[in-house]
Amino acid sequence: MDLATTRRSWRTSAAVVAVSISLLLAGCSSTPQTQSPTFAPDSTGATAAPSSTAPTTTQPPTTTRAINPIAGAAGVGDVMFPELGNGGYDVVTYTITIDAHPDDPSIRATTRIEAIATNDLGSFHLDLHGLEVRAVRVNNNAATFTRSGDELVVTPSAPIIDRALFSVKVTYDGAPDPLSDPDIGRVGWLDIGPTSYVVGEPHGAHTWFPSNDHPSDKAAFEFHLTVPTGVTAVANGVLREKRAGTDSTTWIWDQREPMATYLATVAIGDFTIQTGEGPHGLPLRHVVATRLALNATMATARTGEMIEALESWFGPYPFATYGALIVDTVFGFALETQTLSLFSRTILARTLGSERIQLHELAHQWFGNSLALTRWQDIWLNEGFASYSESLWLERTQPGYNIDGEMQSFANKRYGPITQPTSDTLFANAVYERGALVLHALRRTVGDDLFFAIMRDYATMFRHASVDTAAFVSLVNRHVGRPMNDFFDQWLNAPTTPPLPTR
Ligand SMILES: [Zn+2]
Repeated sequence: MDLATTRRSWRTSAAVVAVSISLLLAGCSSTPQTQSPTFAPDSTGATAAPSSTAPTTTQPPTTTRAINPIAGAAGVGDVMFPELGNGGYDVVTYTITIDAHPDDPSIRATTRIEAIATNDLGSFHLDLHGLEVRAVRVNNNAATFTRSGDELVVTPSAPIIDRALFSVKVTYDGAPDPLSDPDIGRVGWLDIGPTSYVVGEPHGAHTWFPSNDHPSDKAAFEFHLTVPTGVTAVANGVLREKRAGTDSTTWIWDQREPMATYLATVAIGDFTIQTGEGPHGLPLRHVVATRLALNATMATARTGEMIEALESWFGPYPFATYGALIVDTVFGFALETQTLSLFSRTILARTLGSERIQLHELAHQWFGNSLALTRWQDIWLNEGFASYSESLWLERTQPGYNIDGEMQSFANKRYGPITQPTSDTLFANAVYERGALVLHALRRTVGDDLFFAIMRDYATMFRHASVDTAAFVSLVNRHVGRPMNDFFDQWLNAPTTPPLPTR
């Protein structure tokens, strides 16, 4: 995310538990299905950050023990967003099927989730805001459900066994109702007449699909988008197929590398897809409002060069494709939607500011997307790293650019601590600029060689995984060979930033 208005002048394999769910459930005679499940506090789902990796055990769930189904928690325990995400399961894949028409704000949709239980579950939650739920099926059997605020509470016809792979299919429709964020404005599925697009960060995903809406639970995604023939429908990842019907066309997009829910995107409207090639044959595809197509070609011309620069600092680009999604409207931010960063038409201004924003969202493909947050309060790991990458780019490409001077200008703003943001200050300038300062101070302390070795190792070690501040500090400590905890405590948490080390 880059807030142009407030800053500067600006699959995982599912072959995990290869056991028939129905067989498992048939074996669970110790808990008659007519009996109410024994509810107990969720001791794991509320605190543990679920991962999208397979359980370490290779043993199938046993059917001989007495099962003790609980109610899955309504949140993952994020202090900033207590109700985001849910306990009791870890999503492996989302398959989102949407039927949309550019002249109709309503969508008709199903979302099929494959997940692994992390408890015996008598019921579980999905996050969903608005929309009309028509049916829920669990493992192909009808399930009962209730709505409570933005929670969809599902009770399967039979309990789900701990560590079992299970499926949930939700059929729903209606006009998505965006949420609001103090910095960003409307968040979620946005309909601006003949065009729809998505702003997911931080909590907009569950305005258009039922989900475990927290970045700690990444999953593979597949999108099946049916629109009138002649209309373009895009999503994250790679276009697998365009299936033509009589009057409509179904676009199937595949996002195989794990993705946080807020990075999921769909755009529908009059778009032109411009293809190209990045470093070592990386397929590029920019999706541009057709009216803007000519100017967009020039505005995005340096994308390949930017990827090359980022790879030289942080290692290989983490996904199968990249491109910009440029919508013919104006909003005061850009968003690092996975493999397809979102920009408004203001990006077409061929200015240094536009170049910085493009670089910023591209850097997020490493920091924020491949390396996802375990908890929102560590947002500096996204924004500080993306902001510092802008400065690295200028240092490399702009003769006369003085990185120490820019960092000193950030330090002069005397920002407060950045590890305890609230939902109102998640995207405050402090997170971006003091976050960048932390990295610059580290670089000046340990020297260029060690600094870039640390950055590359961090991006490699946690590729497609989840991170928090402690994980980064621990990695730095290992490289430096002594504890740097005091350094980070000062730079992240002191009432104002310490003086920058000199070269
Ligand atoms: Zn950002």
